[in-house]
Amino acid sequence: MAATDGLPTLTYVQPQKLVNTEQYDVIIVGAGFSGLIAARELSLRQRKVLLIEAKDRIGGRTFTAEYDGGKFEIGGTWIHWSQPHVWTEITRYGLSIIESKGVAAEHMSVLLDNGTKLKQITLADNWVTLGKAMEKYSDVDNVQARTVMPLPHAPFTARENVEKYDRLSMQDRFDQVRNALNMTDEIQAMLLALLSMNMQGNIAEGGFVDHLRWWALGDYDMIRMFDKLGRYKIKEGTSTLAQAILNDCQNVKLLLSTSVASVDRTKQDSVIVRLQSGDLILGRTVLVTVPLNVLKNIEFLPALNIKKQDIAAKGQCQGGTKFWAKLDKPIGHWFAMAPYPNPITMAYTDDQDGSVVVGFGPEGLLDMKNIKTVEKELNKFLPTVKVQYVLGHDWRTDPNIMSTWSWYKPGQMSSNLQALQTCEPPVFFASGDIASGWRGFIDGALESGLKSAREIQQYLDKHFTST
Ligand SMILES: Cc1cc2nc3c(=O)[nH]c(=O)nc-3n(C[C@H](O)[C@H](O)[C@H](O)COP(=O)(O)OP(=O)(O)OC[C@H]3O[C@@H](n4cnc5c(N)ncnc54)[C@H](O)[C@@H]3O)c2cc1C
Repeated sequence: MAATDGLPTLTYVQPQKLVNTEQYDVIIVGAGFSGLIAARELSLRQRKVLLIEAKDRIGGRTFTAEYDGGKFEIGGTWIHWSQPHVWTEITRYGLSIIESKGVAAEHMSVLLDNGTKLKQITLADNWVTLGKAMEKYSDVDNVQARTVMPLPHAPFTARENVEKYDRLSMQDRFDQVRNALNMTDEIQAMLLALLSMNMQGNIAEGGFVDHLRWWALGDYDMIRMFDKLGRYKIKEGTSTLAQAILNDCQNVKLLLSTSVASVDRTKQDSVIVRLQSGDLILGRTVLVTVPLNVLKNIEFLPALNIKKQDIAAKGQCQGGTKFWAKLDKPIGHWFAMAPYPNPITMAYTDDQDGSVVVGFGPEGLLDMKNIKTVEKELNKFLPTVKVQYVLGHDWRTDPNIMSTWSWYKPGQMSSNLQALQTCEPPVFFASGDIASGWRGFIDGALESGLKSAREIQQYLDKHFTST
């Protein structure tokens, strides 16, 4: 094991050297879940695969840190049996799930009046009332947005309606329905906290259609939606899943701590990948799986489709903070919410006795490297707790990532998503940031990687025989 952010994780792999300049069938850029699943699928079909990863570990935006006898998911965490691609892998590798306990807490703390007033309320009753407010917020068509997102895994089934609502930010929609919602202060605070938490920032910057997508994926129901988003973790850890997929790859060469600088597809029958080191590698195809917000760091010759360039330049929402805090004493099952711009918009206990809290906040408003700052923010909800340690990673400033989970800005889904998904043979694209269904999730990364692996296989079958 080695360390990321000083935290040991299973998915560190001993570096390999590039020993020759032979041509690969596929060069995959990025070893997150989308790159890993594509590497597995293509290598199992006897394709010669090179997997190049800038970090010193696989797993990308997921890694399970092993610390103080526990497992802490520093990036992507929760999955659900209704997420078809990830659940298939859970079954395939014999993994299991464990519940984050605070989601079913009896009591919750809500911060009102710009974080100055603390209210303790019952979770169950208020969760139902919040669900009703969320229904009104989402109900653009009297059928809970089913005319916008009837089939969330085929998000453009009702393209005209998607375009119509994609003009709105989440704040625009809130302003439209604010009066009709007729909410108590607590419910308004909870609604705004949940919306901000979902897009991890200022809801004026988040596209409303992405909310409707989550709503549809959550069966148009808030409690079911939340169960799918934040309740069940992989017991063995996301790193165990990433490692299992890598172990299943057949003769895939993996280069870690290696960044791709450019992809040149101007030559016939061969793509030239240039590494930051200056080394050149030849491939028949290239699969680019880097996060959307760092796509602009790779030079493409000729340039990519203009719509890809447009969103790569502007970026999707960057996301915020996620941290784990170990408390000095157990507090039982507990849940908390506070509206933006409070530095913590949502937090809940994760373990059985309630001494580990997972917290989220918008746009880097919380310095999670500073224990005292985290403790001060948690004390707004829990005045007497002390924090023993905090674990987290600043994904927003990580030069290979620059974002957390995918949330598009207004207009980006209807203008850019299909362009991002479209391959430009011999260059193909996959990412959790460009998936059709669970975009922004591990499931979406797997979906996107599987789709691209199929496209690449078809392309290679058509143009080359197996090597
Ligand atoms: C804090 C946080 C919480 C999350 N919570 C959840 C959750 O609870 N449930 C869930 O399902 N999802 C969650 N997600 C989202 C989920 O983790 C991602 O959607 C998914 O892991 C993305 O996988 P990917 O393979 O598409 O991209 P990534 O995992 O980002 O992999 C892309 C890889 O490309 C590499 N790379 C970048 N540039 C280069 C280059 N030039 N050369 C070589 N390599 C390069 C990167 O280092 C990275 O490893 C969360 C994400 C974060 C950050």
